[in-house]
Amino acid sequence: MYLKKIEIAGFKSFAERTVIEFDRGLTAVVGPNGSGKSNITEAIRWVLGEQSAKSLRGGKMPDVIFAGTTKRKPLNIAEVTVVLDNEQRFLPLDFSEVSVTRRLKRTGESDFYINKQSCRLKDIIDLFMDSGLGKESFSIISQGKVEAIFNSKPEDRRGIFEEAAGVLKYKQRKRQAEQK
Ligand code: ATP
Ligand code: MG
Repeated sequence: MYLKKIEIAGFKSFAERTVIEFDRGLTAVVGPNGSGKSNITEAIRWVLGEQSAKSLRGGKMPDVIFAGTTKRKPLNIAEVTVVLDNEQRFLPLDFSEVSVTRRLKRTGESDFYINKQSCRLKDIIDLFMDSGLGKESFSIISQGKVEAIFNSKPEDRRGIFEEAAGVLKYKQRKRQAEQK
């Protein structure tokens, strides 16, 4: 499974609909300070179910909607879609490609879609929960977290890698089974 594409419209600095296609392997996004690199990772976390506006550097969720610049009027809708390769059926859906969309209006109204079918936020969170890709996972490591990882104790660091590799949930299940 890999991230194939992200479409961003009206989210943070991306006023214009922006499509970024990714290949297998490593992709680097480079650009000057403030050009929107972190906003791309935030768009990915948001569409995967992030519910904390603070962790998206905002006060309330509608702060993710393009707020306007001196040259451009604010927008009223933010929409992000990610398309993931699912040839190996890594996500428990019988499709070779899975798209997930999240839309938020300034009124506070939200819409969520999996493969263009309307769904709840919970369905998106559940879909990714067991995949090691959920918003709490370490598959996205923010600027501040890099330092935290380097400064952590070896045991804690091991936990971080286990979480990223999706091992932690098996360990937890094993522990639960042993307690019974
Ligand atoms: P750095 O290299 O410093 O980490 P970056 O490329 O990661 O920079 P971002 O933090 O992604 O940059 O982008 C910050 C920019 O996004 C700022 O210019 C900020 O004004 C803009 N921005 C954030 N939220 C909004 C919003 N709701 N509407 C419009 N612009 C926004
Ligand atoms: Mg940044």
